[in-house]
Amino acid sequence: MTTHKYRTMGQQFGRRSWAEPWKIKMVEPIRMMSAEERQRALDEAGYNTFLIRSEDVYIDLLTDSGTSAMSDRQWAGLMLGDEAYAGSRNYYHLEEAIRKYYGYRHIVPAHQGRGAEHLISRALIQPGDVIPGNMYFTTTRLHQELAGGTFADVIVDEAHDPSSRSPFKGNVDLDKLKALIEKVGAKKIPYVSLAGTVNMAGGQPVSMANVKALRALCDGYGIPVYLDATRMAENAFFIQEQEEGYRDKSIAEILREFCSYTAGAWMSAKKDNLVNIGGWLAVNDERVAEKARNLVVVYEGLQTYGGMAGRDMEAVAIGIGEMVEDDHIRSRVQQVRYLGQLLLDWEIPIVEPIGGHAIFLNAREFYDHIPQDQFPAQTLAAQLYLDSGVRSMERGVVSAGRDPRTGDHRYPRLELTRLTIPRRVYTQAHMDVVAESVKIVYDARRETKGMNMVYEPEYLRFFQARFRPID
Ligand SMILES: *Cc1c(COP(=O)(O)O)cnc(C)c1O
Repeated sequence: MTTHKYRTMGQQFGRRSWAEPWKIKMVEPIRMMSAEERQRALDEAGYNTFLIRSEDVYIDLLTDSGTSAMSDRQWAGLMLGDEAYAGSRNYYHLEEAIRKYYGYRHIVPAHQGRGAEHLISRALIQPGDVIPGNMYFTTTRLHQELAGGTFADVIVDEAHDPSSRSPFKGNVDLDKLKALIEKVGAKKIPYVSLAGTVNMAGGQPVSMANVKALRALCDGYGIPVYLDATRMAENAFFIQEQEEGYRDKSIAEILREFCSYTAGAWMSAKKDNLVNIGGWLAVNDERVAEKARNLVVVYEGLQTYGGMAGRDMEAVAIGIGEMVEDDHIRSRVQQVRYLGQLLLDWEIPIVEPIGGHAIFLNAREFYDHIPQDQFPAQTLAAQLYLDSGVRSMERGVVSAGRDPRTGDHRYPRLELTRLTIPRRVYTQAHMDVVAESVKIVYDARRETKGMNMVYEPEYLRFFQARFRPID
């Protein structure tokens, strides 16, 4: 009877919606402030969304980092924290989960992703080395540089083109990599730094075929491939959906196969692993593990907690199991697409194809009258906040920083404003509010002017820089 009724309704409306695979057990109130209050908050924050107080934000799409809602199971796991200084039981749970789902042998915990990046960079890089990667990431590149290395971008050209619809824009361009190896010599390349769903390119995935071919090429030169696994579960979803031969494989199987082509990974558990804090490094080579274990006690904490509380490690271990559930990852990516599709319907310029964790507004096109040294993407983030209290972030010339040799701004081709969706936090109605606000700011774009930077910190300037609108 019921089945029949459903079928009739499905036919009648001609659609079948997806819904989030969870229900809400606890709520956190949020409110929209008045326009005057938002203007005051933005002035105080120097027009930098990183400097706005969270209380002054209505819908927070600054980042998907550490902003996930944990499950009831993860919260229960917190109560099982074993806070022993050494050998906490939760460390062994974490080790077991990483071995099972990622497949690496040796685990070194860290307080968050950049802690793990510090360890791997210090363990592998000698001054003068070159580290090829599929587009830079802010903290990853900085740690490579602080260890004396130079980052070299070997991502496919389509990654720098926001209108290219190629399905795997995160891929490594093997010809570029080969040319680089021939030029500087394999001895100067300690590893290839490969990232799943490339954040700075708009959350674009790497194909299984590409990582396989990359591994084969690198084997020929004796160069290992290390993975930034931060959003690798989302990458697995794109492989399942779009790559020949993977439709019937589970996210867990795809993740495990992908990792098998790499020598190890570093992780910001604050993303895919569905926790508020944590990170880890996992490698197969015992010598690399030993170096990292030597460094972790200096910079993070003992090798069985690395800056995390026992309870946090438990939440990560449980989060890893939830992360690979097919329903979870599908609804995660579909929610991002829902928002993106509304914007595309209104012909607002965004990076396509829509990526795994965020919508990237193409600020260069959005504000085509604002020159890049007047920070179009930073301006767009400020305007969105003024309109509705929605918080986004700049990923353009401010994030790219200055060239350490010339001292000039780096001018990336991609000048983007990122609307990042926290995992399991907001509903479809929130996405509607966000899309409508972007539309209003878009319709008013001609009256909007750029900004000047009035304070600039030395490192990772996008976090603390201050701006003033041009009159
Ligand atoms: C967030 C992130 C990092 C750094 O991790 P933190 O936990 O923020 O220190 C590294 N790589 C990528 C791709 C990230 O998104």
